[in-house]
Amino acid sequence: MATPLACLCPPRPTWWALLLCGVLLGASAAPAVAQPTRGPAAKPQPGIDVQDYDFALTLSDTTDRIEGTATVRLRVTTDTLTAVRLDLIGRNQAQATAPSQVPGMRVTSVTEEGASVPYRHRNDILRIDPASDFKAGQTHTYRIRYSGTPADGLIIGTNQHGDRTFFGDNWPNRARHWLPVVDHLSDKATVEFRVTAPSQYEIVGNGALVNDSTTGDTRIMHWRSDVPLPPKVMVIGAADFAVDTAGTVDGVPVQSWVYPEDRSTGFKDLGQAPSILRFFEENLGPYPYEKLANVQSTTRYGGMENAAAIFYSEDAVADGEDDTPLLAHEIAHQWFGNTVTEAGWPHLWLSEGFATYLTGLYLEHARGEAALSKYMTKARQQVAKFHEQNPDEPLVDTTFSDPNALLNTNPYQKGAWVLHMLRREVGTDTFWAGLRAYYDRYRHQNA
Ligand SMILES: [Zn+2]
Repeated sequence: MATPLACLCPPRPTWWALLLCGVLLGASAAPAVAQPTRGPAAKPQPGIDVQDYDFALTLSDTTDRIEGTATVRLRVTTDTLTAVRLDLIGRNQAQATAPSQVPGMRVTSVTEEGASVPYRHRNDILRIDPASDFKAGQTHTYRIRYSGTPADGLIIGTNQHGDRTFFGDNWPNRARHWLPVVDHLSDKATVEFRVTAPSQYEIVGNGALVNDSTTGDTRIMHWRSDVPLPPKVMVIGAADFAVDTAGTVDGVPVQSWVYPEDRSTGFKDLGQAPSILRFFEENLGPYPYEKLANVQSTTRYGGMENAAAIFYSEDAVADGEDDTPLLAHEIAHQWFGNTVTEAGWPHLWLSEGFATYLTGLYLEHARGEAALSKYMTKARQQVAKFHEQNPDEPLVDTTFSDPNALLNTNPYQKGAWVLHMLRREVGTDTFWAGLRAYYDRYRHQNA
């Protein structure tokens, strides 16, 4: 993702202000302090490997409460598994009997092949007990019915034009606020969203559009990703959108989804995506997803690289400023971060350092060597400033409990500099060949 907005940014920050904002964030957190998170953030749930999620969600205009049915197909990986555990933020126990607007999800049934399965939903873990002993290699498909008002993860609110919107914003481990998942980047799965909403909404999601039907006042849009994704980038977005096809790259449609009021600036801003996609595809290897949608949205970040449906902050799209670096950064993540995913949070630089340096490489391609030089000089200053105040902070930091604590200059600018130095060491052609080999080796896996 691009540098977070959760700091002292100007109200309508430009991309470069966001970058500056990141520096301030890193510099003021001296040193980065790990914050506790609800639920087991840093580890995947043991003993299972989720293969596929099918989420049927109903959104409403009269309440922020969502109704969900999740069908989760998983493989058991050990004979010693005693129960399946999924992450799902529950209602606060103290408020469990309070009205439905109390945030958190309540599970009403778990079934397998139509038969009820014993479960317990406590401390933000949905525990599903086996009918008989689990055996390694078994596949189970559980259907989980649940409902509630998400406190986070699915951001329900109004955009800058006063229209109601719904946007998934999961990074790093906030999918569990609205989806029962193994909420860790090492457990990738294919995913589909069948979203039912009032008929005025356009709904975007990961993957390809499978179906779009309207009956009376109700619309159902169904998106499916046949490419396995980590939960951090599984999303939907629902709003009144104007949609434009900016181009097609090697048969992949590149779309711009913006609020109708921002149509003119938004389509222009996001319209450069096909050129960026083409550059990365030519140099890194095939784009992995069914389409690329660039979406004006609500996200706590300047941009968030959700797979095949990148979400940008509404200001970034509407302000008429040049967002080339922001688009290049998020599009580069489709290869590194989404398709080749770091195996654990401490290795965040494999995502952010690559996206940051590939942005520089696109600028070099589009604007010349001086543009890369300027970009890397600024990055070096940021690294030096952060290092002055955090001399012991390593590039790979294993001492945290909250991945948010890793959002500093190290994985971004320092990661980019590691790659820049490597390129200078081995030469540009070998460097690109190395990136292609790395991508090819770890595609759809964790590295
Ligand atoms: Zn990023």
